[in-house]
Amino acid sequence: MVETLSIAVIGAPGVGKTSIIRQFIYNDFSEAYTPTRSRYVYRPSVILNGNMYELKILDVPPISSFPSSSSQEWLDLRCRGVRNANAYILVYDICCVESFEYVKMIRQQIVEHREGSSSEVPILVVGNKRDLQRQRFMPRRAVSVLVKKTWKCGYVECSAKFNWHVVLLFKELLGIAVARGMRQNHTSIRLQGALQRNRCTIM
Ligand code: GDP
Ligand code: MG
Repeated sequence: MVETLSIAVIGAPGVGKTSIIRQFIYNDFSEAYTPTRSRYVYRPSVILNGNMYELKILDVPPISSFPSSSSQEWLDLRCRGVRNANAYILVYDICCVESFEYVKMIRQQIVEHREGSSSEVPILVVGNKRDLQRQRFMPRRAVSVLVKKTWKCGYVECSAKFNWHVVLLFKELLGIAVARGMRQNHTSIRLQGALQRNRCTIM
């Protein structure tokens, strides 16, 4: 049996959400910026440490806030599936402090507005555009400590442009989701050791 995990990718416009997803799935990168106007769903299958997962990756267009209720989610097409996602990737640009403020706001709203055990939902904060790190607004270590210790989220920096740490970030998120038992379809999968070994394959 295959497990399905829905992952919502959220962040300010232009931080590289679409680039990260397309690099992960198609090994493709474009310098040209084409803003994502409507919600787009990608469905890759991946193998992590011998277990197969079907991912439903939601490329979420710019939203002013995390939907605070199911009705708000259903009224706004851009938000469909966002509240019930199994995990979140919150992307910011390491050179743009406003994009970090946006991630901070969305993380807070996820914790406040999600139904059920919201604090348990896996959230990975991703600092993109690592190739431009000379222009970063805050040292990596300071952000990492804030995100991991205070927000209790995972933290990875990547460069979608150079495909650096892109697979790693999905592997990291899957590892957190698996470790927290975010299993949707069944419970019989053997999950031990998911974080120790080092394999993640896109099918
Ligand atoms: P989105 O609005 O968050 O989906 O952002 P896009 O993926 O469309 O990317 C916005 C712009 O940033 C595009 O011009 C990309 O070429 C550029 N970009 C994305 N990722 C990187 C990166 O890692 N490094 C650099 N230098 N540019 C990037
Ligand atoms: Mg986009």
